[in-house]
Amino acid sequence: MMVIKCAECEAKVFRYVKISKGRLWHCWDNRIMKDYSVRDGAEVKCQCGNLIGNHEGEWVKMKQGAFTCSGS
Ligand SMILES: [Zn+2]
Repeated sequence: MMVIKCAECEAKVFRYVKISKGRLWHCWDNRIMKDYSVRDGAEVKCQCGNLIGNHEGEWVKMKQGAFTCSGS
């Protein structure tokens, strides 16, 4: 399980089950175990207003540099 945090304020955004190694480009809806994000239409934001990504179909396309990951 990974914790995705906002790069601006370090608040949690998602708890996520990551399968593949390497950089996180998409977060699949069905692997998001806990969702702390704020939704504004298709925009996925932190509680502080920082844009984390955009929801596209079955996943959130993550905005590189807007978030940090920890865990495995
Ligand atoms: Zn934030």
